[in-house]
Amino acid sequence: MLKIEHLGIAVKKLEASIPLFEQLLNTPCYKTEEVTSEGVNTAFFQTGDSKIELLEATQPGSPIAKYIDKKGEGIHHIAFEVENIEAEMKRLAALGFEILNPQPKNGADNKLVCFLHPKTTNGVLIELCQEKKG
Ligand code: ZN
Repeated sequence: MLKIEHLGIAVKKLEASIPLFEQLLNTPCYKTEEVTSEGVNTAFFQTGDSKIELLEATQPGSPIAKYIDKKGEGIHHIAFEVENIEAEMKRLAALGFEILNPQPKNGADNKLVCFLHPKTTNGVLIELCQEKKG
């Protein structure tokens, strides 16, 4: 894996959290983007080589809404950048990690992504992401 690409943080309201993180990080939010397939609105901040991704649910039943109901706001996932997502998924599946989506899917910020089930990663939801080419 190349680096920690971003940390995903679940928040109740982007409207409240964007200005908070702008103050905290002393950098403007550079992008907001809705990912309709995931029922989520995202907001991104650059921090050096890595990013912070804020996640707000757009519908009551979406994964982020469920997460916040159960655990409240907070760190939701760690995303690692990979060179070749399919090769990395194959490598990890062969080692027994449970991959939540068998095919890479479209994520926010021009990425192909997949997630590993936290039960096979010490309770941490892991995202793999690969920059889309072309
Ligand atoms: Zn993410």
